[in-house]
Amino acid sequence: MENFNGFGLAAPLVIALTKMGYSKPTPIQAKAIPILMNGHDLVGIAQTGTGKTAAFALPILNRLLADKRPAPRGGARVLVLAPTRELASQIAQSFRDLSAGLPFEIAVVFGGVPHGAQIRALARGLDVLVATPGRLVDHLDARVANLSGVEFLVLDEVDQMLDLGFIKPIRRIVRDLPKKRQNLFFSATMPTDIRKLAAELLRDPQEVAVTPAAKTADRVEQTVIFVDAARKRDMLVELLADPAMTKTIVFTRTKRGADRVATTLAEAGIGALAIHGNKSQGQRERALAAFRAGQARALVATDIAARGIDIDGVTHIVNFELPEVPEAYVHRVGRTARAGAAGQAVSLCDGSERDQLRAIERLTRLHIFSIDRRGDKAPKPAPVTHKAEATPAPDRPHHQPHRDPRSASQQPHRARQGRRTRPAYQAKSGQGR
Ligand code: AMP
Repeated sequence: MENFNGFGLAAPLVIALTKMGYSKPTPIQAKAIPILMNGHDLVGIAQTGTGKTAAFALPILNRLLADKRPAPRGGARVLVLAPTRELASQIAQSFRDLSAGLPFEIAVVFGGVPHGAQIRALARGLDVLVATPGRLVDHLDARVANLSGVEFLVLDEVDQMLDLGFIKPIRRIVRDLPKKRQNLFFSATMPTDIRKLAAELLRDPQEVAVTPAAKTADRVEQTVIFVDAARKRDMLVELLADPAMTKTIVFTRTKRGADRVATTLAEAGIGALAIHGNKSQGQRERALAAFRAGQARALVATDIAARGIDIDGVTHIVNFELPEVPEAYVHRVGRTARAGAAGQAVSLCDGSERDQLRAIERLTRLHIFSIDRRGDKAPKPAPVTHKAEATPAPDRPHHQPHRDPRSASQQPHRARQGRRTRPAYQAKSGQGR
């Protein structure tokens, strides 16, 4: 599926997608949306970072629009259960973004905060309720929530919910739901106990699986520099003063951005070429040939333009902007360290891109080490934490804990294996975040 027009989604949703800059469905979206639009139950084997939230939110919002009804008081038409308050908030925000301008009532319910506002939101009646299981059970027990009007049940990150001990609350919640409903069940892993739970809760589900490109090569040393957006171009010029950067691909989010960055580099005397969708095939081929041949040290590209191109000997990747979709980070970084060579990837992250960085760290299960430039005060964002609603509260899924060093210590870690030489432009290490 090349774009979102073929799904039969209502116009306001397609407009919202365009505004959000989503032009092409991710694989899970391409697979899941038609199944859900047909009213089937779904088991999705997918992890965060694959675009699964929009994969379930879009068909649900489409149905709510097509079949307008008053929101049930004390409850909701759509119930999404998620393991952590952080994820629940993100899901609710995605529903809000995707239904921008539409009169839907969307609320989040999670533990650790007072009950009052949540009770009032429930009393008003909701279209979409995103909840962590423990607090929702509290509301059910207190009889301030009533789930008899639920038409959709979404269980997100089921493996993590079970890890957190939510099986009993989930069963308790499901007991209160109407029998006739559409069920969506997402988990990154599908061991037997989870498969059994799906068989118990779902009716004749269709299954889709996506395996995200989630692992970056260990030979790539990945770092992040926190820098204001306005300083990024100067920073890039400073980075490229390093003569070791002989073959660098600079990724930008937009085509115009690629042109601007290439111009900045050219003005600074650094040979740079841009490739993006507005260039003709001939222009792109000439730029690639010149870059391959070493006639220009830097190639500035958008994700789409860089897709499928294969260039040997790329020494550095610079993410001038972080990608919207975390998987794109993995693809970008995969352009270096080919055929056993080493490589380095530097991401320039401004204040508005912290969530994207976190999403990348979650997907790759790496803590990307931050570095500071000489004379440059890198801001120190708060450490990344994934708060769970209840105890026990591991801050990460269980399936690859060894790759995420955060819980062991808040000290910055270089989560890379392999090459440990300090990049030439790195003034100081040990910069905490
Ligand atoms: P999720 O797996 O739902 O957490 O989504 C991961 C990230 O991808 C989120 O930041 C979304 O905003 C973004 N995203 C989801 N679908 C698309 C798409 N079709 N195009 C671009 N970005 C997307």
